[in-house]
Amino acid sequence: MVELQNIYKWYQVGGNRTFILKDINLNVKEGEFISIMGPSGSGKSTLLNIIGMLDQPNEGSYQFLGNDVFKLKEKQRTELYKRFIGFVFQSYHLIDELTVYENIETPLLYQDVRSSDRKAIVADMLDRFNIVGKKDLFPNQLSGGQQQLVGIVRALIAKPKLILADEPTGNLNSTQGEEIMEIFKQLNKEGVTIIQVTHSEKNAAYGHRIIELMDGLIKH
Ligand code: ADP
Ligand code: ADP
Repeated sequence: MVELQNIYKWYQVGGNRTFILKDINLNVKEGEFISIMGPSGSGKSTLLNIIGMLDQPNEGSYQFLGNDVFKLKEKQRTELYKRFIGFVFQSYHLIDELTVYENIETPLLYQDVRSSDRKAIVADMLDRFNIVGKKDLFPNQLSGGQQQLVGIVRALIAKPKLILADEPTGNLNSTQGEEIMEIFKQLNKEGVTIIQVTHSEKNAAYGHRIIELMDGLIKH
């Protein structure tokens, strides 16, 4: 599903290059659950953003579901992202001015899903994740755990094949964090591929495989 080859990312300041990622090679198969670990500044978020097509490397190639990502036009890349990827952010990134219902509905609006179908799909998700009673609240009326749950439901609603999560439990207490990890575990059982960045050994253990980054390199 994800095949990264010889990925380099650097920032140029004057004549000096600072490397963020150095020769990253990574294959992730459909159905896998991968945890990316490593100290702060080791390049974890940059790697996740590249996989999610939110960032581009300076060198290297990337095949996503057979598509040569960096040879595509921006618009085609955006289409791939919207159809197949759900991104879960550490600090939720919900839209403050929209209700829970409207936040969750947003990806369906982007995909031009008909109004009647949208209603049915949103109702179904609210029900599945037990948040019907919260649908008319705004993000600032929810706890961190509830906001992250809404962020996950929004990432899921368009049925992505790949969920990318950047420290999804980083702002949550351990009970809330466990609930989120159990949701990922269940989704993975249903066939969704998951790549998470985490600092927590406990959360990392939910994955099948741990990738360790150190100074922009994958440790072997
Ligand atoms: P991690 O997620 O492991 O903490 P990041 O991928 O966020 O690491 O960042 C890796 C390194 O890249 C850090 O040292 C960070 O300071 C640096 N970095 C990120 N963005 C930029 C930028 N726009 N310019 C220069 N350095 C950057
Ligand atoms: P449109 O212009 O496409 O009709 P609206 O803003 O009127 O969009 O509403 C979009 C859809 O979302 C409608 O089907 C509306 O009934 C539904 N909707 C919006 N907020 C809520 C909510 N809090 N509870 C139930 N349905 C909602």
